[in-house]
Amino acid sequence: MDYVTLNNGVKMPILGYGVYQITDQTECETCVADAISVGYRSIDTAQAYGNEEAVGRAIKKSGVAREELFITTKVWISNAGYDKAKSSIIESMSKLQLDYLDLVLIHQPFNDYYGTYRAMEELYKEGKIKAIGVSNFYPDRYIDLVQFTEVVPAVNQVETHVFNQQIKAHEIMNKYNTQIESWGPFAEGRNDFFTNVTLQAVGDTHNKSIAQVALRFLIQRGVVVIPKTTHRNRMEENFNVFDFELSAAEMEKITALDTGESAFFSHYDSKTVEFLTDYGKKELK
Ligand code: NAP
Repeated sequence: MDYVTLNNGVKMPILGYGVYQITDQTECETCVADAISVGYRSIDTAQAYGNEEAVGRAIKKSGVAREELFITTKVWISNAGYDKAKSSIIESMSKLQLDYLDLVLIHQPFNDYYGTYRAMEELYKEGKIKAIGVSNFYPDRYIDLVQFTEVVPAVNQVETHVFNQQIKAHEIMNKYNTQIESWGPFAEGRNDFFTNVTLQAVGDTHNKSIAQVALRFLIQRGVVVIPKTTHRNRMEENFNVFDFELSAAEMEKITALDTGESAFFSHYDSKTVEFLTDYGKKELK
């Protein structure tokens, strides 16, 4: 496993396992247990995924030493603001059965995220969170937050895959010393991702799959990846990306797939913001 060093010296695995949309508790517990036994040490969950308890049970049962694991959760929009964010993070810790979290992110740049960030800064200083950061903060809101907070976000998790490479946003994060992390490294299969001819041709050269080439591309760019799958064989496949290297010419070919646009929705689109904030007004179950 390769690691990145965050801006506060904390080491984070460059490859982790994401559990978005694994809502069935038993399935999620089995998946996380499988992922840990395959070798994953970084798990990405969120309050809004509704599976923190299942993740916690799998971690506990794994018997892997706490310091070997890197556990991320995210504060949802409905828990924004200093007091609510603070108590929700304590609740997440309790659901995950952990006495500290490796990384806590603000899930979306909406509602009182400054208040949320102050609560995270406090918990960070108390040692209850090893690193703090944000998610879906695009250059406008990201720069604003960096300029008016004390602790520079260690991580910004944004949609990043071969079709939406975030080249400009990545440059800006580098400038302020924030690690980029990809969500949706396979674009959740959109744009015919898993039959892309360019990725297939590169994969054939290395005897690797499209998924492996796509992850390798991001890793070579210095992007942290957290692919999701419920299949153990795919967990193994996605984990097995450290024994080959893409050449400069191959990197260039894949760079050319960038559309510069989201394969999902744009955080600059008023309809998307309305949808997310309407959803964010509802309390989590
Ligand atoms: P993703 O990892 O891009 O894609 C997951 C999809 O790819 C699933 O349908 C999975 O199917 C399939 N897949 C996985 N490995 C495969 C392989 N080797 N071959 C063929 N198909 C494969 O999508 P994602 O779950 O949206 O993103 C990853 C993680 O990022 C999430 O789990 C979550 O932790 C995080 N995330 C964060 C945000 C945010 O707003 N911060 C948003 C989205 C996601 P099966 O499961 O059936 O194998």
